[in-house]
Amino acid sequence: MPKSAATSALKRKLGKLVDTSEKGCWAASFDSSKISFLPEAVITPRREADIGVVLLLANRHRVPVTVRGRGTTLMGSAAPVRGGWVIDMLKLNSVRIDEDAGMAHVGAGVTTAAVQHAADARGWFYPPDPSSKKYCTIGGNIACNAGGMHGGKYGVTRDFVLAVRGFLPTGEFVEWGTATKKFAAGFNLRDLWIGSEGMLGVVTGAVLKLVPKPAERWTLLTSFPHETAALKAAKALFRHRIQPAICEFLDRESVLCAERATGHTVFAGQPGKPVLLMELAGSAAEVREQSRFMLYWAKKYATAHRVARSRAEAEQLWEVRRKCSGAMFELGDSKLNEDIVVPMRNYEAFARYITRLKKKSKLPIPTFGHLADGNLHVNIMYHRANPRETKAAEAAVQDLMETVVSLGGAISGEHGIGLAKTPFLRLQHRPAQVMAMQAVKKALDPRGILNPGKMFQEVRIWKYPKMKIHLPWDHK
Ligand SMILES: Cc1cc2nc3c(=O)[nH]c(=O)nc-3n(C[C@H](O)[C@H](O)[C@H](O)COP(=O)(O)OP(=O)(O)OC[C@H]3O[C@@H](n4cnc5c(N)ncnc54)[C@H](O)[C@@H]3O)c2cc1C
Repeated sequence: MPKSAATSALKRKLGKLVDTSEKGCWAASFDSSKISFLPEAVITPRREADIGVVLLLANRHRVPVTVRGRGTTLMGSAAPVRGGWVIDMLKLNSVRIDEDAGMAHVGAGVTTAAVQHAADARGWFYPPDPSSKKYCTIGGNIACNAGGMHGGKYGVTRDFVLAVRGFLPTGEFVEWGTATKKFAAGFNLRDLWIGSEGMLGVVTGAVLKLVPKPAERWTLLTSFPHETAALKAAKALFRHRIQPAICEFLDRESVLCAERATGHTVFAGQPGKPVLLMELAGSAAEVREQSRFMLYWAKKYATAHRVARSRAEAEQLWEVRRKCSGAMFELGDSKLNEDIVVPMRNYEAFARYITRLKKKSKLPIPTFGHLADGNLHVNIMYHRANPRETKAAEAAVQDLMETVVSLGGAISGEHGIGLAKTPFLRLQHRPAQVMAMQAVKKALDPRGILNPGKMFQEVRIWKYPKMKIHLPWDHK
């Protein structure tokens, strides 16, 4: 049953698209941060115009509105923290490839994997690849400026969005850019929407840039005596203008997790050695030339290396990366997964810092990530029921964020701020910068209805009780 006059009015306008059932509201009350805030209604638009109707009513009645893709964000950014209405975008899931122009015309609710498959079938490639790609939506990717393993060579979501369309928080339909590769007509509000975490507008669709599908891929796994050696070796590779499509680093603790999960050591006789897992992608000639150099590089810097002779063998090499994250839950039942960014010049300093942080906090902190763009996932593992560990984990996050900023890095490379990173926003940004962001928010959303309570108000999300629930994309 509708709970307020505003929701009754919404039901009259949109009928069956509005779900006020307990079950429907519960399902939309949380994202992957697993902290629940019940909304009053969930709207599942079938047409883009339905969203305009929702927003006009929300402004009239001052109802908070949260847009939801698939709810895979780990930051609490899709949780309706102020209640109100949730717009579920999953039904707006069209995808059409323009083969000649190399573009994908998509609805905001389509999954990233579906776009990649559609592009691949036509000989094109859509590189942004969050590991949640089977589930997460392009709308969510645009809202968070999602990245992934291909970031170093190809870039992140922002680098592939030619145009977006959707609704301003006040309910007017807008289009930022069009289906062209160049567009210099007016302020670039397209890029303002990208990464705005559902606070400056509702994305209903986009035109995405595609690149030609790489003809060849070549995979190499290497191990090193210690972390600093691996990081130094990677830098030597980049210095030679080699840009692997993927360059994943796993520290000792991450490798040990993967080895425990798979039941075998990555390189026989060398358990728990940090690794670099790399993939070249490009034309046959390019891959041939670069792989030759990489073999020379591996012999010079790595203690062991292995080349995949086929895609099946490459999949085996990838097992170490795929298994490490889930296996970390052997080290603690809770994880603070911080997707920080470190500038390349400070890689070694950061490796030394993480060793110190592990000692100081007495917590396992397996760290892995995308070395070609410095986006590392620092996983602070602890047991929630253990007060010492919980306190140490909270202190470690604060310490980490301060250090990352002091090293010239970023508190988030791909997950965004949401609720979880609100205590650290002001470490990254000066007061004038935060004020400028708030002024933009106020200008576009004068009544503050779109995704309120996020980004600017400090929330210590780890203090909230976490739901005991298994989501389809959970490792464990
Ligand atoms: C197992 C796992 C692996 C992950 N790996 C990666 C990774 O490799 N790289 C990475 O970048 N992220 C990763 N993530 C985080 C997450 O998947 C991404 O942030 C993703 O972009 C969220 O998409 P979604 O559709 O689930 O959006 P949601 O979680 O539903 O929403 C996220 C934010 O986007 C807003 N939003 C959603 N749709 C729209 C829209 N149409 N218009 C306006 N705002 C909208 C929401 O309001 C919210 O603020 C991972 C998460 C998990 C659980």
